[in-house]
Amino acid sequence: MTVRVALTFDAEHPDRRHRPGGTERVLDTLASTGVTASFFVQGRWAEAYPSLARSIADGGHLVGNHSHYHARMSLLSPTGIAADVRAAERAIRRATGQDPRPWFRCPFGAGTNDPGVLGALERLGYRETRWDVDGLDWRSVTTGRGVAREARDAALAHGDGAVILLHPWTTATGVALPALIEGVRSRGGEFVRLDALP
Ligand SMILES: [Zn+2]
Repeated sequence: MTVRVALTFDAEHPDRRHRPGGTERVLDTLASTGVTASFFVQGRWAEAYPSLARSIADGGHLVGNHSHYHARMSLLSPTGIAADVRAAERAIRRATGQDPRPWFRCPFGAGTNDPGVLGALERLGYRETRWDVDGLDWRSVTTGRGVAREARDAALAHGDGAVILLHPWTTATGVALPALIEGVRSRGGEFVRLDALP
C-alpha cells in the first residue's frame, strides 16, 4: 500500500527578517518535482506578500488560514478569535482568490486541546489541522540534510497519512526539500494535499 504524505508549510512572520527567497525556493522545488502541498497562510503575511500568496494558489497548493496576527488563540476570547480569523480570511481571499475554510492551524499549536478555541473555530467554519512530524527546520542547529533524513524517517514510520510541518522561511527547508521528496518517493511514498487525506 502506498504511504501518502502531506507536506504542510506555515507562511508567516512578515515582520521578521528572513533570508530572502525562502518561499520562492520552496515553490520552485514543489513545481519542478510535481508535488502539491498545503500552505497555512498568515493574514498579515498575505498582505505583505500578495504576489507570493497568489503563487501558492496558482501552483495548485491547498491554502489554509494561519490567523492574522499569529497570536496564541488560547489567549483570545471567542470574539477575539472571530475577529482575528475573519481578518486573516479576508486578506487571504484578497491575495489568493481562495477561501481557506475549513483549514486552520493554530499559531504555536496553542489552543489545540482547548475546547473553547476549537468550538470558536468550528463556528467560523474551520477545523484545527494536526501534524504528525515536526520538521524542526526552525532550530538554529539544524541542517538541511538532517531535516530531510529525520522528516523522511518519521513520516515513513508514521505510515499512511503522515502530515509533515515545515517553514518556508528557514534556510534548512529549502536545502532539505529536494532530498526529502526524493527520499520519500524512493521508498514508495507519494505526496498529497491535506484534502486528499481522510
Ligand atoms: Zn506559525
